[in-house]
Order: sequence, then C-alpha cells, then structure tokens
Amino acid sequence: MNTFEYISKFRELIEKSENIVILTHYNPDGDAIGSCAAWHDFFLSLGKSSQIVLPNDFPQNLKWIKGSETAVIATKEMKKAEALIAYADLIVCNDFQSFSRVGKLEEISLKSRAKKVLVDHHVDPEIEQFDLVFSNIESSSTAEVVFEIITQLTPEEPVSKTIAEAIYVGIMTDTGSFSFSSGHKKTFEIVAELIDLGIDTCRIYQEVYSTFSENRMRMLGHCLTNRLKVLPEFSTAYMYLAKEDLYRFRETPGDTEGIVNYALAIKGIKFAAFFTEREKRIRISFRSKGEVDCNEFARTFFNGGGHHNASGGDSFETMEETIQKFEKLLPELKQLN
Ligand code: 5GP
Ligand code: MN
Repeated sequence: MNTFEYISKFRELIEKSENIVILTHYNPDGDAIGSCAAWHDFFLSLGKSSQIVLPNDFPQNLKWIKGSETAVIATKEMKKAEALIAYADLIVCNDFQSFSRVGKLEEISLKSRAKKVLVDHHVDPEIEQFDLVFSNIESSSTAEVVFEIITQLTPEEPVSKTIAEAIYVGIMTDTGSFSFSSGHKKTFEIVAELIDLGIDTCRIYQEVYSTFSENRMRMLGHCLTNRLKVLPEFSTAYMYLAKEDLYRFRETPGDTEGIVNYALAIKGIKFAAFFTEREKRIRISFRSKGEVDCNEFARTFFNGGGHHNASGGDSFETMEETIQKFEKLLPELKQLN
C-alpha cells in the first residue's frame, strides 16, 4: 500500500466507526497526551463518539491540554476503561509499538473486536497486532505523524488550534525542545505551520516546563547532590531515587521525568541512566549522545526498548543488584570505550 491507500483505508475505517477509543502507553508523556488530545478533537469534529483511555495517570504539567481532562484513567476506573476498549469500533493506538506497553489493558486490547490502527515512531512495531500501521521512525514524535495523517485525512479542513497546540506539545517534549538529533527539517516545517495556526510557543513552553512544584525541584537538587555517580572511564553517569527519596519529596506523576537528562548534560558523558524504585520493580531511563545505542541496551539487558538515544526498561532485582548489573555491563559496551 502507498501512503494514499493507507490514508483511504484509515478514512474508510473512521467512516464505519461510531465509537472510537484513543489509546497510548503506560506512563503517558507529552507526546502521548498531545497525540491523544489531537485525535480526540479531530474525531469530535467529525461527529464521532471519541474517548481517550490511558493505562495510568499523566503528569500535572500536561493537564491544561484541551481534551486531556476527559480521559478515562484505567488505574482509577478499570471497568470503564475495559468496557470502552472491548466495545469500541476503532482503537487508535499512539506512541507505542506493541500492546505490551499498555500495562493491564494489554489483554483486553488484544481481544477487542475493534479495528486497531497504530500511529507511532518507535523501532520494530509489532505489525501483526494491528489492522493498519502508520509508523515512521524518522519522525521526531508520534505527534508529528498524527499531524501528517490528520492533514491528509481532511486536506480541505483547517486544523483547529486545539489540535495545533496538542501536536506542538508532542513535538516539543519528544525533541527535548528541539535539542535531539531527531529534529529534521520536516519537523520545523510542521512547527511553522502550527505557528501559522495561532499557537503561542512561549506560553506552551512555560505551561510544560515552568510549572514544577517546589518539592520536585528539591528532589532534583537531592538527586544531583546525593544520588549522582559519574564514571568518567566509561563516559557514563547515573542517578537513582529509592522509595524513601520519592516519599520524602512527595513525588507526583511526572516529577521524575527529564531528570536523566541532567546526567547526560555533563561534559564528556555519552551514556546516562536513571533508576527509580517502583512497586516490585526498578524503572530505568537511558539516554545517550551519538552512537551509543540505548534501544539495544534496554532491550538486551533490561526488558525494555525505545529509541537509539532514549529508551526505558525495568529490572526485577533490588536497586543495589540492578546498579551492580548496570556497572558490570559498561566495559562491554564498545561505543563507550
Ligand atoms: P522514558 O525514559 O522517558 O521513560 O522513555 C524513553 C523512551 O523509551 C520513550 O520514547 C519510550 O516510549 C521508550 N520506552 C520507555 N520504556 C520502554 C519500555 O519498557 N519498552 C519499550 N519498548 N520502550 C520504552
Ligand atoms: Mn514519542
């Protein structure tokens, strides 16, 4: 199928569907919420019944995004979330490459009779799980893919400001405010279009990045001062927060997001990791500069994956054991030596 056929097929699926569910991954970030909010506004404008379903809650600094307040959050309303998925005609899946990323909603999603459309930018999508796949690993963000699809689905309709703002949040957050290597010319062209649609980039930046709680900033300070280890011989730095640390600073969803980037911002550091103690697991974020492959590292050793320069994973050992394992793996990583 060429792009035109993909769009026609998607248009047909939308036309046939009454109840549309918009789904994204566990621990939704700016790209996930931005993509969902954009679809939600789009489907409502087509007169469809549209519902965003999230595996768990999303960060406070994204709650201003229009439409996000209507999301059904599975950890709070599991029965409702499951019923929506089970009885949907169409499920639009955003920012994940496999249903293994939707937490407890995995089984019901796989079983649902709904048609499933994937919109994503991660490597190796599990295409057999979906009826239609829009996956572009060259894209800065899923939001960028969403924008391209929406503008092709209804080329004669202007994109709403609500959609434009949501798309911008996705692009801005997934490119690290245009600092990562994924910022291609195309990304900036789309941003130019969004500006033409009337978005205020300055206000959006402030809403997302200048609204942290005092506790969150002090947690970051604690992390940098007391929980940072630098290993110059492996161009690596890592940080960790134990349950007690998170409790002490009254952590709320999203508070740990972005902390890993501080380790990577140290001169000479090419590989950074951030370990957070969660219920029955250690959650890990990996970031790298240049050739160091975070995706492969997370996939091979820590049950995860993601992108070349940004990935995540889980460990089911203790914090101490996990960090020990991590340190032991570094001499093997060719790109660091
Ligand atoms: P973060 O460190 O911000 O949680 O994740 C960084 C990137 O890796 C995100 O693009 C995210 O989608 C991806 N990612 C995070 N955790 C996982 C995981 O467990 N599996 C896979 N396949 N990708 C992940
Ligand atoms: Mn993304």
